[in-house]
Amino acid sequence: MSTPAAAPPLSALTDREWRLIAAAPHQLLVDGRWVDSENGATFDVLDPATGEVLCAVADATPADGRRALEAAVTAQSSFARTSPRERADILTRAFELLHERIDDLALLMTLEMGKPVAEAKAEIAYAAEFLRHFAGEALRIDGGYQTAPAGDARFLITRQPVGPCLLITPWNFPMAMGTRKLGPAIAAGCTSVIKPAPQTPLSMLALGAILAEAGLPDGVVNIVPCTGANEVIEPLIRSGLARKLSFTGSTKVGKILLEQCADKVLRTSMELGGNAPFIVFEDADLEEAVAGAMTAKMRNMGEACTAANRIYVHESVIEEFGSRLAEKMAALRVGRGTDEGVTVGPLIDEAAQAKVTELVDDAVTRGATVLTGGTACDRVGYFYTPTVLTGVSPQARMATEEIFGPVAPLTPFSTEAEVVAAANDTPYGLVAYVYTNDLRRALRVGEAMESGMVGLNQGVVSNPAAPFGGVKESGLGREGGSIGIDEFLELKYIGIAMG
Ligand code: NAD
Repeated sequence: MSTPAAAPPLSALTDREWRLIAAAPHQLLVDGRWVDSENGATFDVLDPATGEVLCAVADATPADGRRALEAAVTAQSSFARTSPRERADILTRAFELLHERIDDLALLMTLEMGKPVAEAKAEIAYAAEFLRHFAGEALRIDGGYQTAPAGDARFLITRQPVGPCLLITPWNFPMAMGTRKLGPAIAAGCTSVIKPAPQTPLSMLALGAILAEAGLPDGVVNIVPCTGANEVIEPLIRSGLARKLSFTGSTKVGKILLEQCADKVLRTSMELGGNAPFIVFEDADLEEAVAGAMTAKMRNMGEACTAANRIYVHESVIEEFGSRLAEKMAALRVGRGTDEGVTVGPLIDEAAQAKVTELVDDAVTRGATVLTGGTACDRVGYFYTPTVLTGVSPQARMATEEIFGPVAPLTPFSTEAEVVAAANDTPYGLVAYVYTNDLRRALRVGEAMESGMVGLNQGVVSNPAAPFGGVKESGLGREGGSIGIDEFLELKYIGIAMG
């Protein structure tokens, strides 16, 4: 890619931002080489704070996808033979490099995704942690040796890499959703083709360059940003060359991919959408519950699968909770994520802003009261004012759809049984948050939640050392924790006759 000498006169980018964008990889990574797409096509990456085009990135075609998968297939057998220590050392070096470059990487992420730089830095640190965590797990891939019940044979049980993987990630955590898959894949000895979301390819491409610098052999990780996701990915799924698909994104797309994967019986991991309930009982510490709701709601401007989507507050404390939450939300500073002191960046695109606007208008039409916010910001970029609504009807669209924006909808409840039933009344089951100081109630309600994760008196559950994932239509499998590497390993049993 050519490097522009200086920003054009009307650009909102500073010289540093301009240089960073120009120096970042913009091509496909195939078999260890940076290449243009075979037909030379590119697509634009935009700054969601201004709508300005940041740069053009190579747009992979189905033929590019095929070349990338063939490179992964070719690299698979030699990579599977590398020692666990070798793979752990590469991951550890990449972890270190992410920290060394954290300022530039965070700024790059803010420019393409919009989140404030402080949040982008937190994401890079979180993303790096997956690499360090799985560097450790690479060394702990275990097996077994067992005597057959009849005593006439022995069972040798070992774990082997699944084989070449297809990895697909969303735009909301452009780097961490990549390392949450690549960390365990590399640790297990799997090669892969990864497709980032077209809104945010730059962070993933930067990660590809860092993995190469850390010593990852050519062809082990191939990166194919593209705008034609279905045209590029479906033939790869059906090719018979890949052994696994790991997807993070919407439930709608996850279901399509599951159907495609049935064709060749690919192993699948699915991290899909959520509709998290956040329950505040009357005995909760209200100050902590408000702080937890701020985290659970506002991390990533509400654009998180784990975002509190339905906030149920006991009727005796809802007024107090609502006014404290509204005060904190109104005090947030909305703006371009690169600006000092900004705590809320823009939404990812115009469609996201339009959807949040529609959902809020619908809730208000159905009787909700606006405590603060309630409108899109009157400025360039896809901003929405931090909003608190109270008295949100269970019939409102936002009770069943992911809001994916800075909107906190409060609904009162009176009994534990009623709120547990309401919280579980959704096809999703990713995470639930429960605030109470009654230990028995905490455990009872925690166990009753139909979700893969529960935050008890805490507004964040994501931790690379914990098993992240959902039940029901929120997904299949777990990422992170000691179990995360199992998604990339096959068990093999060798029977040994002892007659
Ligand atoms: P999305 O499903 O639209 O896209 C996700 C990825 O899939 C993107 O890379 C996209 O280009 C690709 N894609 C879209 N259609 C495809 C197809 N037919 N074949 C192959 N790939 C295809 O989701 P999004 O808008 O990017 O992300 C937001 C969604 O992701 C939300 O629903 C959110 O809850 C979910 N999410 C889940 C988790 C989790 O861990 N459970 C984490 C982050 C985001």
